[in-house]
Amino acid sequence: MSDLKGRTAVVTGGGTGIGLACARRLAEMGVETILMGRQLDRLEDAAKTIAGARAIRCDVTDEDSVAEAFAAAGAIDILVNNAGIAAAAAFHKTPMADWQKIQAVNVDGLVRCSQAVIGPMLTADYARIINIASIAGLRGGAYVAPYTASKHAVVGLTKSLSLEYARTRLTVNAVCPGYVETQIVENAIANIMAKTGRSRDEAIAELAKTNPQGKLIQAEEVAEAVAWLCSPLSGSVSGQAITISGGAI
Ligand code: NAP
Repeated sequence: MSDLKGRTAVVTGGGTGIGLACARRLAEMGVETILMGRQLDRLEDAAKTIAGARAIRCDVTDEDSVAEAFAAAGAIDILVNNAGIAAAAAFHKTPMADWQKIQAVNVDGLVRCSQAVIGPMLTADYARIINIASIAGLRGGAYVAPYTASKHAVVGLTKSLSLEYARTRLTVNAVCPGYVETQIVENAIANIMAKTGRSRDEAIAELAKTNPQGKLIQAEEVAEAVAWLCSPLSGSVSGQAITISGGAI
């Protein structure tokens, strides 16, 4: 994998799960990583485990917080829009506030962070935006309509921005994982157990069934795709939504 020494990346939601795995993998490639999220203690603990990493508090739903965080971050070559939340409920019983909460993080937050970095990227010799969407960004899903809609928006934004900036060196891509073994999936397992009375193993099997390979994905597998999209030789790849889902499309 090409050396990215001297490049700087922001990973939102970089203190846990997929974001943390991305930050670790990028650091291995020589990238200085900045972990952003709301829980500063957790981010700082994570940053201590990654060479050259920094932690900056940022709530992607808060305009001032995003402005302050990106001002503190300085020049950015790579933005991994990873911060995201999920919830499962019957659509007709979903309060508007719950719908808006998901869009505020998964869509508006991603827009805000992207707008904070894109200006200087348009004249740079290298720039990457990678959006962590989901397989839910490519197909429908029962009981997860707000999340599914938010991830479809992420894929749509990715395709549009890739075209809008095609004459620059900025590429914009999405990765679309199936169920990955992280806190989000831990919450889904707990939800299935509570709502259906199934055991933990049965709940995991239910989620793994959505993957033709019959397993949960690992965060490091998602990070590997992100690392490849960041490599200089992937500069002709843009507007893609790459599935990491054991063959589910
Ligand atoms: P996770 O460990 O729960 O990570 C979510 C991260 O988002 C946390 O680090 C959290 O940090 C951050 N976050 C949430 N709200 C935020 C806000 N308002 N401002 C800033 N940061 C915020 O779960 P994960 O699975 O790694 O999720 C990462 C991404 O992968 C999400 O976009 C998710 O939709 C996507 N994804 C996950 C799966 C899966 O099965 N796990 C599958 C497909 C896609 P703080 O609490 O510190 O803010």
